Amino acid sequence: MASILTDSRPALSSLSEQERMFQEAVRDFATSEIAPRVMDMDQAQQMDPGLVSQLFELGLMGVEIPESYGGTGADFFTSVLVVEELSKVDPSVGVLVDVQNTLVINALLRWANDEQKSRWFPRLATDTVGAYALSEAGSGSDAFALSCRATQDGDGWRLRGQKLWITNGKEAGLFIVFASVDPGAGYKGITAFVVEKGADGFTVGKKEDKLGIRASSTCELLFEDVHVGPEDVLGEVGKGYKVAIETLNEGRIGIGAQMIGLAQGALDHTVRYVQEREQFGRAIGSFQGVQFQLAEMATEIEAARLLVYNAARLKDAGEPFLVQAAMAKLYASEMAQRVASRCIDLHGGYGFTKEYPVEKLYRDAKIGTIYEGTSNMQKQTIAKVILK
Ligand SMILES: Cc1cc2nc3c(=O)[nH]c(=O)nc-3n(C[C@H](O)[C@H](O)[C@H](O)COP(=O)(O)OP(=O)(O)OC[C@H]3O[C@@H](n4cnc5c(N)ncnc54)[C@H](O)[C@@H]3O)c2cc1C
Repeated sequence: MASILTDSRPALSSLSEQERMFQEAVRDFATSEIAPRVMDMDQAQQMDPGLVSQLFELGLMGVEIPESYGGTGADFFTSVLVVEELSKVDPSVGVLVDVQNTLVINALLRWANDEQKSRWFPRLATDTVGAYALSEAGSGSDAFALSCRATQDGDGWRLRGQKLWITNGKEAGLFIVFASVDPGAGYKGITAFVVEKGADGFTVGKKEDKLGIRASSTCELLFEDVHVGPEDVLGEVGKGYKVAIETLNEGRIGIGAQMIGLAQGALDHTVRYVQEREQFGRAIGSFQGVQFQLAEMATEIEAARLLVYNAARLKDAGEPFLVQAAMAKLYASEMAQRVASRCIDLHGGYGFTKEYPVEKLYRDAKIGTIYEGTSNMQKQTIAKVILK
């Protein structure tokens, strides 16, 4: 029996040598390559394609893909570290990488068969961006009320319908698409398919003009009798609801990571600013009122980070993490809004302009409480568990 004295577990925020090296490499890349492009990409509402190629070269687009398929072969926690580091500099880049790793690759790791893994993993690890298409105009929080249909056609299906709000829609080459093979069966008709860009009848439609994460593409997808074969079904027919639920449970830890990165980025800018900006003949950071605000923000970020890291480590350990993931996403996204807002306050009028990066981070923070389940939906998940 392991004694209490010998069973030494590291603190949640202790990183292994490999995790630390990965974190530092991503931090260096974000500072040198992403930071100079952030404002232009935000203004142009366009992810720099050169940057996407670099993300592939660094192995950040296939963090959990086994090395035998050309991936990085790391764990889920490493994906979380990557998303956090990228989001300190640009949450748009953070979400591109997040969807690729914590939704698309995660779904394939769990549900794809060996033939499908051989077909899709080498591409996702080297040059193909993925997207995850569940939401529709009429079904968001009530995701299983979707109306996209898959009608049997020989041994395959024809997909018909529309998806809305799909992250990476513009850049993606592979799309996980949820549609019902039997609307009468309710959620038990929902099936996950993988659709290739360029498939006959498949169009990427309008790109949304958004408040924040503007360099991240958010698109409508249109399916007009798009043929999918049995080899394109992810998991079992009628079990798409399980694919969706289980992937999103993991994905929302990634959104938590995006939000702690964003908040830390905003705080880092603010710590520098308050030491430079003088009023009343002193740096504003020398006033206790300002120092207390910094201390409160740092504490909130650390609390959110521990929630996110704990959920990710539980996932890697194969232990239940549903409620911890919901709490992590809920708290981190609400926290990021408070922190980004306060960082603007501490920049005074300058914070309200595009000259300082906190303005963009404040706009970017708003999405955290909406996608991958709104704050109310996270509360519903948590309440269900504590009331049972
Ligand atoms: C930028 C962006 C990127 C996105 N990326 C993707 C993506 O890649 N793939 C994808 O599939 N989807 C994506 N989405 C969609 C996103 O997940 C949905 O917008 C989200 O789930 C909310 O759904 P909705 O917009 O339909 O809002 P609604 O579900 O209509 O919710 C509106 C409000 O009502 C509240 N509400 C609804 N039902 C209840 C209830 N039962 N109890 C209490 N409150 C309730 C909500 O909390 C919210 O405040 C994205 C959205 C955005 C904006």
